[in-house]
Amino acid sequence: MQGMLGIEEALAIVIDRVRPGDTERIDGDLASGRVLREVVLSDQDMPPFDRARMDGHAFRGMETAGAAPTVPVRLAGVGEIAAGDFPERELRPGEAIRIMTGAPGPRGADAVERIEVIEVASDGSILIREPVTVGKNITPRAFEVAAGARLVEPGEKVTPALAALLATFGYSRVEVAVTPRVALISTGNELVEVAERPGPGKIRDSNTRALAGYVREAGGEVVSAAIVGDDFGATVKAIEAALESADLLLLSGGVSMGDYDLVKPSLRHCGAVIHFERVAMHPGKPTVFATRGDKLIFGLPGNPVSVAVAFFLFARPAMRHWQGATQVELPRARALCTARIKGAPPRRSHQPGRLSIEDGQARIAPLRWSGSGDLVGIMNANAMIVVPEQTSVVEAGQLTEIVLIPQ
Ligand code: AMP
Ligand code: MG
Repeated sequence: MQGMLGIEEALAIVIDRVRPGDTERIDGDLASGRVLREVVLSDQDMPPFDRARMDGHAFRGMETAGAAPTVPVRLAGVGEIAAGDFPERELRPGEAIRIMTGAPGPRGADAVERIEVIEVASDGSILIREPVTVGKNITPRAFEVAAGARLVEPGEKVTPALAALLATFGYSRVEVAVTPRVALISTGNELVEVAERPGPGKIRDSNTRALAGYVREAGGEVVSAAIVGDDFGATVKAIEAALESADLLLLSGGVSMGDYDLVKPSLRHCGAVIHFERVAMHPGKPTVFATRGDKLIFGLPGNPVSVAVAFFLFARPAMRHWQGATQVELPRARALCTARIKGAPPRRSHQPGRLSIEDGQARIAPLRWSGSGDLVGIMNANAMIVVPEQTSVVEAGQLTEIVLIPQ
C-alpha cells in the first residue's frame, strides 16, 4: 500500500476540513443527547446548606463525648425539621432536634445520629448511649461544589447525569450544537425499495436504514434519502438535490473500480473537491471524502460491513466534530479473541465481533462474515476487532484491540 493514506492521516484530513456548525439555545428538557456548547457553572453551593444524610436527631457531637451504654447523655427534644424546612433558630447547648434525610441542620448542630439508635424517653428527652463524632451524617454546605465553580466544559454530550446537573444549577435553557442535517443516497442498479419484492438480480436497499440509525446515534437528522441507479445523470441530480438541504451527504456504493462506479465522476461534475479516494484499510479501501464549500461528502463502499467501518472511522468523527464534541472517536478497549481470525496485511482490518464479559474478562467473538457484506452474520456485532496492518493472523486466546460500536 505504498503511498496509500493510513487511517489516521485520512481522519486528520477529514477533521481538518470540518467547520463546526452553529449553536442554538433550547429548552433544557430537550437537551439530552445533544452536544453541550456552553460552560456549566454552579450558581449556588451544593449542598446549599449543611444537609442531614439520615433520619434521626441533630445535636452538638461534643456533648455526647461521655456517653456509655449505662450512662446515657440526656438531651432535650425540641421539635423537628423536615426536608424543605429551614430552621431559623440556633440549637442551644443540651438540645436535640428531630431531623429528616435531606433537611438542613440548624446552626449549632454538627452531628446527626440515626433514628434507629436513638431512645426517646417518656418525657420527650433524647438518650444517647454512645459518643457521636462531630460531622457524623451531615454533608457540609458546598461539600460537592461551591458557587461559581466551573463544572463542565463545552463539547460534552448531554447524558442523563449531565441533564440532572444542568437542572440542579438552573439551566432551564441550554446552548447546544445545531443538529447536522444529513442526506443519504444509496447507489446501485441492483437496489429496490424495502417495500418491494426484489426481482431477479436485485436486492433490497438496507444501507439507508443502517446509515439512518448510525446518523441518529451520532446526533444527526436524516433530511432526505434516495436510491439511484448506476447512472451518471441520475447520480448528479440526486447529489445536487441532496446538497441543497444537507450539511453532510453520505453516499453508499459506486466507489470501487467497477464500470458502473459513478460516484466520483458525479461528485466532480457537481463541483465537489475530492480529498481522498482510497485508504489503507480493510474493508472500506475505496472510501471517498469530498467537500463542496462547507458541505461534507462521504462516498462509502456499498457492502454493509464496509459502510459501517467507513462510517464509524470517518463520517461519525466528522459529525461529532461538526457538533463541537470533544470526544469524536468511538471508545476502544482490549479483549481476548475467542477464535482465530485473519488480517489483511498491509492494510489494517476491522472485523465484526460480539463483545461479552465473562468472569470479569472482556472476550470478543469474531462473527461470520463473507469478506464483503453479510448482514445475517454481523447482526450481533457490538464491536469491531482491529487487526493491525502487519498482522496476518490473530490466534484464539490473544489479546486484541476492539472499537466499541454504539448500540
Ligand atoms: P458497490 O460498492 O456499489 O460495488 O457495492 C458492493 C456491494 O454492496 C453490492 O454488490 C451490494 O451487494 C451491496 N450493496 C450496495 N449498496 C447496498 C445497499 N444500499 N443496501 C444493501 N446492500 C448494498
Ligand atoms: Mg454498486
